[in-house]
Amino acid sequence: MTAEIRHDWTKEEIQAIYDLPLMELVYQAAGVHRRYHAADEVQVCTLLSIKTGGCPEDCSYCGQAARYHTNIKVQALLPVETVIAHAQKAKDTGSTRFCMAAAWREVRDNRDFDKVIDMVKGVNELGMEVCCTLGMLTEEQAIRLQEAGLHAYNHNLDTSEEYYKEIISTRKFDNRINTINNVRKAGITVCSGGIIGLGETHHDRMAMLLTLATMPKHPESVPVNALARVKGTPLENNPKVDIWDMVRMIATARIIMPASVVRLSAGRIEMTEAEQAWCFMAGANSIFTGERQTLLVTPNPGVDEDMQMLQTLGLKPMEARKEAHSC
Ligand code: SF4
Repeated sequence: MTAEIRHDWTKEEIQAIYDLPLMELVYQAAGVHRRYHAADEVQVCTLLSIKTGGCPEDCSYCGQAARYHTNIKVQALLPVETVIAHAQKAKDTGSTRFCMAAAWREVRDNRDFDKVIDMVKGVNELGMEVCCTLGMLTEEQAIRLQEAGLHAYNHNLDTSEEYYKEIISTRKFDNRINTINNVRKAGITVCSGGIIGLGETHHDRMAMLLTLATMPKHPESVPVNALARVKGTPLENNPKVDIWDMVRMIATARIIMPASVVRLSAGRIEMTEAEQAWCFMAGANSIFTGERQTLLVTPNPGVDEDMQMLQTLGLKPMEARKEAHSC
């Protein structure tokens, strides 16, 4: 298995990797992981919902969509000082990346966006990698964020282009790609991955990985999420994602995008430590944690639990990869 960075993968090649006998797949992925990354380091990221719920979109997995009857408490945009205080706390407990999420369809050029710009500046001054996920973005808005010190922008593909319309009807797959392109043009790093367990086929999973791995530049960060089944959403009764499917997705992403940070994201709460260890062995080298024990609006292990797990597994939190950006 070569571990060159390639952008010309075919779906057949990706499928062949995904279908390797599990032990062989994990062995190969672990080899690639060691060639590109320190295998004992895990990037610890904190995700904070800065504006929760009331979203006009209809993503069928999401408890924040206004149209579904979920228990999510709607919360307006947090004050800038509150967000900076959360970031400081996250830094103090070992996080090097702080991601701010707003349940918006798209960014509007209004006072709320001005506040987000101030949040980005403030978190950047703490020396953390600052990430945002705010919905669709124009190139001009991306440039403003970049100038404020934004390090990464998260915009997941969610699933394959073909299956996308079954999951979301209020926007198109191409809208996702446009925003990712705008982020790239502004010189911000890209965080983009997907969710498994939406009812997609294996073919859809391979197609999603193909889109990511054939981008002119691979996303620097690739989150692999297992569906968190939120009561009140159309997907609340979907079957639980099989751990071996997660391990295969992570290992395949690791092999085809060797230099990217592969993030074990939503769904960890339903995994044992041993299952998470398999994911790290397969090449995952990033997790989300948080003081509130939630990942946006779904349960997640807390930071103490996570630090204990890393210690048990002989892993350590990764240092921030950037110097504080000066505006
Ligand atoms: S995933 Fe994002 S865009 Fe979709 S409904 Fe939830 S908050 Fe809105």
